[in-house]
Amino acid sequence: MSVLLRGGTLLPLKDTPRPMWGDLLISGTRIGGLGKVDGLPPDTEVLDVSGCVVMPGVVQTHVHLVQTLFRGLAEDMPLLQWLRTRVWPLEAALDEASLRASVRLGLLDLLLTGTTTILDMGTTKHGDIVAEELVRSGMRARFGQTMMDTGEGVPPGLLETTRASLDASGALVKRWHKASSGRIGYVYMPRFALSCTRELLEAVTQLAKLSDLLVHTHSNESIEERNAVVMATGRSPMQYLLDTGIACDRAIIAHGVHLDDQELEILKNTKTSVAHCPSSNLKLGAGIAQVAKLRAARITVGLGADGAACNNQLDGFEEMRMATLLARVVSGIGSLTASDAMALATREGAKMLKIDAEVGSLEQGKRADLVVLDVNRLDGPGGDPAARILFGGGSRAIRHVLVDGEFLVRDGVPTKMDPNEVRAKAAEQLQPLLKRAGLA
Ligand SMILES: [Zn+2]
Repeated sequence: MSVLLRGGTLLPLKDTPRPMWGDLLISGTRIGGLGKVDGLPPDTEVLDVSGCVVMPGVVQTHVHLVQTLFRGLAEDMPLLQWLRTRVWPLEAALDEASLRASVRLGLLDLLLTGTTTILDMGTTKHGDIVAEELVRSGMRARFGQTMMDTGEGVPPGLLETTRASLDASGALVKRWHKASSGRIGYVYMPRFALSCTRELLEAVTQLAKLSDLLVHTHSNESIEERNAVVMATGRSPMQYLLDTGIACDRAIIAHGVHLDDQELEILKNTKTSVAHCPSSNLKLGAGIAQVAKLRAARITVGLGADGAACNNQLDGFEEMRMATLLARVVSGIGSLTASDAMALATREGAKMLKIDAEVGSLEQGKRADLVVLDVNRLDGPGGDPAARILFGGGSRAIRHVLVDGEFLVRDGVPTKMDPNEVRAKAAEQLQPLLKRAGLA
């Protein structure tokens, strides 16, 4: 099956931000050609995309689908209090039905706003349900069940033994890594230094190395958390991740807001990458990551909305806008342009997930993971397409979203889920969840 997107503005985001005009051919799961495409296969469906921008789908390198139900339930608190009094009790109270409803609502939000790939951190249970829903959704995903075998304020319902935590992740690797023809992959996810024993972190390092899997954890998010890690380990957070072997070129840390110069060197030398979550960092009052400084040190940076409990949107275009605006204030105008921010949320994110040979830019032969934006719905009428999208309304313009050449959103409507049903199921689960968490 082939589809020709005819007559659009293409933003390939390969190496230059320059747009090109023309067509894009989707041949099965891949991009068959760009620009002027000759010799269409006989059964090609032709879709007019004049007045639209075609760009790579958004790659979000840090989200928590299981927290989507917690949106609006954990307001006005700093990180550790937010975790201990709201997010952890709520995660502990998730049962199969509420977790599934939460994941589905998150996937709906992400698809409707143009995200095609996620790096998702779950809770300490029900990883199979997350995986089932990822498979069913059509979304490209790297996911993992989070690991917690110690920590102040961790409810008994979340706490695992070291052995059980490792076994659970190992079993999920066996069941789901490279599922759906490689669309789904497993990533080891120790939650953060404060909820993991040294023994657990060292074991994860060994297992991830042996199986060549990525590792994802939170680090250097708030001053309070940073100080707590120093108190508990006698090391800076990145020095501790280096000592335990976690810091390496297969590791992605979420946040990286409060880093000293020595920690920056560790990131650089180990090729550890950073998922920047600007809205979450602002909402929890955590601080502002030094994105321009990280990039100048050739550290790979991607973007993520984090969870609905700390954002509260899951819109990748909003994160791009935030990233470029904050960088201007922190490091000067021009330190992260609109196109640069788009590259973080596409090509650079794909690089961190080691899937940049397949997705992250529009190139012949790559997977057809892309979005079509009807820019006439945005503030206009003209100007640079990247700036028009990021500053003029972003995801408001989403018309089509495709992964592996399959329409997951077509003319603004999800093809694999019914939004009314997904939202109703989520609403149905909310009160019982609050009651179980002791928050009703
Ligand atoms: Zn997070």
